[in-house]
This record gives sequence, C-alpha cells and structure tokens, in this order.
Amino acid sequence: MSIGFAQTPQSYTSTSRFSHTRHSNSAPICRKLSKAANTKPDIEKRKGKSFQDRCLINRRTKKEWKLTDFDIGQSLGRGKFGNVVLAREKDNQFICALKVLYKDQLKKANIEHQVRREIEIQYHLRHENILKLFGYFYDEKRIFLILEYAKGGELYKHLKAKKRFDEDTAAKYIVSLASALDYIHLHNVIHRDIKPENILLDGKGNLKLADFGWAVHTPLHRRTTVCGTLDYLAPEIVLGKHHDEKVDNWSLGVLTYEFIVGRPPFEADGNKATYLRIKAGELHFPSHVSSAAEDFIRCLLQRDPSRRMKLSAIYAHPFIKKSQSKDIIQQEQCPSTVIVGG
Ligand code: AMP
Repeated sequence: MSIGFAQTPQSYTSTSRFSHTRHSNSAPICRKLSKAANTKPDIEKRKGKSFQDRCLINRRTKKEWKLTDFDIGQSLGRGKFGNVVLAREKDNQFICALKVLYKDQLKKANIEHQVRREIEIQYHLRHENILKLFGYFYDEKRIFLILEYAKGGELYKHLKAKKRFDEDTAAKYIVSLASALDYIHLHNVIHRDIKPENILLDGKGNLKLADFGWAVHTPLHRRTTVCGTLDYLAPEIVLGKHHDEKVDNWSLGVLTYEFIVGRPPFEADGNKATYLRIKAGELHFPSHVSSAAEDFIRCLLQRDPSRRMKLSAIYAHPFIKKSQSKDIIQQEQCPSTVIVGG
C-alpha cells in the first residue's frame, strides 16, 4: 500500500536551514471549516535535490535508509499510531530514536496527508530547541522516522512528578520554547498544538519542541482549521475564526500557567465547559503566583490576537528578566566551566 511517500513532495525554498492525551479534553480535534483550510500548504519547490532524495538517502553510503542499517534498542514509548524505539546506526554508531508508524492505522484514521506534511515541515527546521528529523524510510507496512534522541523524555512527565515548576524553571523552559516558536514563525510555520506532551527534553535538560502533526506552513493564507488540543487552543480557533501564528503565543501563555500552577487555566469537566471557559477568557490565579508571572500570562492570554504579547517582547518582561538575572548571578557564583591548563 502506498501512502504517497514514493512521490516527490514539495519542499521549502530557503537558503537558510530551517528545520496526546491525558484527559478527555486533550484529544486533538480537527474540523475543517472552510475550503481555504483544505488547500495544501503553500510550500514552494526547492531547486536541485528533491525532498525525497534528501530524506531517504543516507548521505554517507549514498543508499536508501533501511531497517537493517540500525541496531534496535529499548522501547522509548508508544504513540497513537506506532512505537518509538532507541536505535543506533551501525556504521557510525549514531544514536537516534526511530518512530515507527503503521500505514494501515494512518489510513484508517485518514491522516496520511497530515503525516506527510509533518515530515515535510519538521525535516526543514534546524533549531536547538526543535527535535530534529534526520530522515525517513518505509517498507510495505510501516514508515520509520529517524529522530533526534531526547533522553529526558516528555516534559509532561517531569511536570506531573513535580506537580508544578518553580517560576524560574518555568521561565527557563518558556524562553526556550519562545525561541523555537519565534524561529518557526519566521519561516511561516505555525505549530498549533503546543502542550507539555509535545515537548521533550534532551539528556542535558534542554527543551525540544516535537510533534508537528498539526503544524502548517502558511506564508499567504490565514487558516480556519480547528485543530490541536482544546485546553491550549486560542479563542479565535475555538470560534472557527481566521487565525495566524499568534495562536502559538496564546498556547505559550496556557503552558506558562500550567507550568506554574500544575493544571491548564481553562480546564473544566468536558469539552463544552472548557470551550465556554476559553471563550469567556476567565482566569483565576492561586495566591502563590507572583505578580510578574500573572502579568506575563495575562499579556499572552489576550483574547484579541493583535493585543497578545509578541514573542520578541517576552525577554523584556520582568517574569523572564528576573529569572535570567538569577541565572547570571548563579553562574558567576559557581562557574560550571573549568579551563584546565588554560
Ligand atoms: P509519540 O508517538 O510521538 O507520541 O511518542 C510516544 C512516546 O515516545 C512519547 O511519549 C515519548 O515518551 C517517546 N518519544 C517520542 N519521540 C522520542 C524521542 N525523539 N526521543 C525519546 N523519546 C521519544
């Protein structure tokens, strides 16, 4: 069965290298609201090598990737459409995560196009806080994504273990995520499904944004597709209005709240109640939340997208500045780099 990967997909024109479910509310939803939303993302053709060539071929051996190129290790997790396993490339001992997707399951869920788009987008993103997709290959039944290995696993698990993060830890993650979002927005990509389950950590605790399943490359059009996970959705998406990259800024606000409070701000019993709370924009802050953090969250959770804080402005906000200056003081007091024989 072919799901279309054998054809040459379109790819970006760019000289720069740019690269679910814990309660009933958080299942991703996708409702097409207009014809415009059904149009393919306007991704221009790149001159020279096709996307297929660059994704399918092992640059060193100049041959197509295949499963026997890898030693397979332990399971790293199970997703909705397959499993993720630790793997080591035999020739150069390169460690990666292999995500195995079953074609029949993708077909049944009617998301072959979505996966294809996810691969096209993620392959072109190159940023330290975005999980790298090195390539993919497939056999008759499965598609294998060769991904950067995120040793620390899901941020969601760390958050659940700690119940909530202290504000400095939250600010550190938010800065990394904002940097990744700023980068994708610059390349006309909107993620549209920012939530703790889609954020991984590497072995050093660095944040890696993953799962571009709902992402869209949209240089020309504003979108109307309702997608993502309800708790994190901006009101303009929930209401089926046109939306742009500022929906990710809203989700960043939801995430900041969840990091600091331990639950998302509009959580309620059932989708309808959550939907009504997002629409109303009701926000309640427990007393432990500092005024700087509250203001930061309120600046991002502006119902009017044009009034929502820009990503470039977050660095000047006291909530971020406060944690960054503490970081500098700590580094000065106990420098981690010791230059031997320098
Ligand atoms: P997914 O199908 O993407 O939801 O992944 C299922 C699980 O596998 C996740 O919950 C992660 O714990 C784990 N996982 C996915 N990708 C990676 C990766 N690149 N590195 C380490 N673990 C991963």
